[in-house]
Amino acid sequence: MLLSLETRPSTRHGLGVYATAPIRRHALVIEYAGEVITHAEAERRYPTSGAAELPEHTYVLQLDDDRVVDANVHGNDARFINHACDPNLEPITIGDQVWLVALRAIAAGEELGYDYAIELDERHTPVLKRRFPCRCGGATCRGTLLRPKRAPVSAESRAVRRAIAQQLAALSND
Ligand SMILES: [Zn+2]
Repeated sequence: MLLSLETRPSTRHGLGVYATAPIRRHALVIEYAGEVITHAEAERRYPTSGAAELPEHTYVLQLDDDRVVDANVHGNDARFINHACDPNLEPITIGDQVWLVALRAIAAGEELGYDYAIELDERHTPVLKRRFPCRCGGATCRGTLLRPKRAPVSAESRAVRRAIAQQLAALSND
């Protein structure tokens, strides 16, 4: 599936990815492509402990409890999609791939964004939150890329997961 997307400088941060045509709710927008590696391998490649800041150009997304997708290797433009505290996309794992799925209808010209929702093992202290600042500029911006601990799953997020599960079930019944 190829939807109309454009990568260009963002008003939020660095490069961003924009819809150039309307996208329907629950559409599979783009695969977060890259090399599938273990968490241990990701930590070896991009050590976080002791780092002064989040490395600026490290593109890694969680696939499941054991694995991540490293978009620094064979990645596509999905790696340029910015974080948003009020996201219009959500990463959904489908087999050995992660897809960014539309949480709602997206208009032409809108910048795409998903909640990076970074969770560290340690406590999310104010100092740590400032090391992962958010620049999304949304009305509901929480000021950090870190996910609040024990944050509830949103109704939108539950709906998109149900919709994808139903689409996959329909495919496997063909
Ligand atoms: Zn924000």
